Amino acid sequence: MPEGNEIHRFAERHAAAFAGKRVHVDSPNGAFPDAEILDGRTLKSVEAVGKHLGYRFGKDLIVHVHLGMYGDFWEGEMPLPPEKGALRWRMWTKTDWMELRGATDCSIFDEAKWQALLARLGADPLRGDADPAPAFEIIAKRKTPIGLLLMDQTIFAGVGNIFRAELLYRARIHPERPGKDVSRKEMEGIWKDAKKLMPAAMEDRRIVTTLPKDRPHKRGTAEDDEVHYVYRRHGKPCFVCGATIKREAMGGRTVYWCPDCQKS
Ligand SMILES: [Zn+2]
Repeated sequence: MPEGNEIHRFAERHAAAFAGKRVHVDSPNGAFPDAEILDGRTLKSVEAVGKHLGYRFGKDLIVHVHLGMYGDFWEGEMPLPPEKGALRWRMWTKTDWMELRGATDCSIFDEAKWQALLARLGADPLRGDADPAPAFEIIAKRKTPIGLLLMDQTIFAGVGNIFRAELLYRARIHPERPGKDVSRKEMEGIWKDAKKLMPAAMEDRRIVTTLPKDRPHKRGTAEDDEVHYVYRRHGKPCFVCGATIKREAMGGRTVYWCPDCQKS
């Protein structure tokens, strides 16, 4: 599932290609029946909040997209490629096209529905206007493991499975530690770290969380098997202490941690 960094990157790229332009819109597989309402309209802006995208065509005409586990976009320069697969939403101008397949949601929201969604979502580290204070207050009261709280989109929006594992490793916090036992200072550290790592992943198109000094190859670009400390490294030795990285299911997704570096 794409994390916030990828969603924000889609928003930037789609805004650059389509915002301010009159666009053609259709839904070749019919799974976005309202597409025809949008055909020939001007796309005003594209916004990302957490893992949600909003394409604003007018006050009560906002296309909401949530990619879910299997949704993805394809993009390119005209002409349009031949139709294939479950092509749910297609948008194009004289110069650019984009296609959406397999999303959890692609439907039109009115302003009230869009605002209700924003109100439900927690602080997004990729948004300059995000205020993490409410999230810190919720976490300070909860016995729920911090590994679950970090993935709760109503607390923090945009943090996915990779960032959950890696942010907790970098903070040396065990994912099972109850939220209330994570100090305010530790939470502020995680937030600051997320605000640094997530935009970097947006630019580089890969999520690199390891510091050069901790990698087996300390010089040059991180190799693919040394970009993460713990994510998908179960059974392998921790780069820092050598202990075997562990994993378990948490909240329907697998969480990874180092039993020595991360304190419960
Ligand atoms: Zn370790």
